[in-house]
Amino acid sequence: MGEQYLRDELSRIEAAGNLRHLVPAAHDGCEIIIDGRRMLNLSSNDYLGLGADKMLRKEFLAQLNPENLYMSSSSSRLLSGEFPVYGQVETMLSRMFGKEAALVFNSGYHMNLGILPALAIGNTLIIADKLVHASIIDGIRLSGAEYCRFRHNDFSLLENILERSHRRFDRIIIVVESVYSMDGDTADLQLICRLKARYGNVLIYVDEAHAFGVFGENGLGLAEAQGCLQQTDIICGTFGKALASVGGFTVCSNAVRDILVNRMRPFIFSTALPPVNWMWTAFMLGRMSGLKPLREHLASISLQLCNKLKNKGFKMVSESQIIPLVVGDSQAAVKLASALRDRGFYALPVRPPTVPNGTSRIRFSLTANMSGEHIAALSEAIDELA
Ligand SMILES: *Cc1c(COP(=O)(O)O)cnc(C)c1O
Repeated sequence: MGEQYLRDELSRIEAAGNLRHLVPAAHDGCEIIIDGRRMLNLSSNDYLGLGADKMLRKEFLAQLNPENLYMSSSSSRLLSGEFPVYGQVETMLSRMFGKEAALVFNSGYHMNLGILPALAIGNTLIIADKLVHASIIDGIRLSGAEYCRFRHNDFSLLENILERSHRRFDRIIIVVESVYSMDGDTADLQLICRLKARYGNVLIYVDEAHAFGVFGENGLGLAEAQGCLQQTDIICGTFGKALASVGGFTVCSNAVRDILVNRMRPFIFSTALPPVNWMWTAFMLGRMSGLKPLREHLASISLQLCNKLKNKGFKMVSESQIIPLVVGDSQAAVKLASALRDRGFYALPVRPPTVPNGTSRIRFSLTANMSGEHIAALSEAIDELA
């Protein structure tokens, strides 16, 4: 009976309509197959379709040699040293971004959990956008630093907070994302950089998880697209989305990197990713700047769906491949998602507390291996159901 309280809690979660399950699925190109049902996968983060690309996997596997291929790193990087591929990936990253240094983490979650506690030394204020990812919130909490959050993308509020507090703190770290995961809207990084320039003691930390690979001439993200790679102190991203690999990374100064190596607990106390994953990451990074046609295609089908929803009278804030259809009511969102599944479109309903009350939605996430015809078919289904 010791676990009855857990069953009680599960009943409460279920009664609130929020019980989640892990669903087995097979993948085939841009389609997902669940319970024998084949659907267009509108819930994937494989934004460029690279994870689904068999030719890339074949090409990669053909160049591997079991002699020097390690499936485990068998320790933290500080403990028994560095495999050569680690340095290769980090050098590639720092060169691509034109930054002094780069550091790779086991995941984007590790990255956001660890960076702020490592950097928030002494009298630090952290200011974060209201809608930053859960991993950043956890990092803020663990840092123990004073923090405040400003209304999503409201930079006049950010300015007020800076004006009010910059004298009281030794330093301020502003934390934002570049593309936000629930609305698909973007941050004005240039404006944040201009604010930073006005005060001496501000660092900017941008999580490019949904933009890395997708935005910018070379796919580096929104900071590249907005021309502020140099002014942005700490640019972070994940390899787990558009790059079709695994791991988180930051590009930064040598000082930031050295502090992270010395103080960041998820970096110090976790076994590094297997060298085979790093090799795949290097393989994919080498291709990224050449993937502009995929980025352009993704932008074009995203615009196609956005315009469609706009024309139907939905208020659209999305400026990316993440496109929400805001229904409002939670049950209506669940019903619409289920009806879309019946038509062969797999997109999940997103409800409170993940999004604000009254803004339940279907979240479409587009990938570059979808065609204009796919989007046209989806639009037709939306016309009939929404
Ligand atoms: C997905 C995501 C992460 C986590 O990255 P993982 O590599 O999946 O752990 C961090 N931040 C944001 C904004 C994300 O969307």
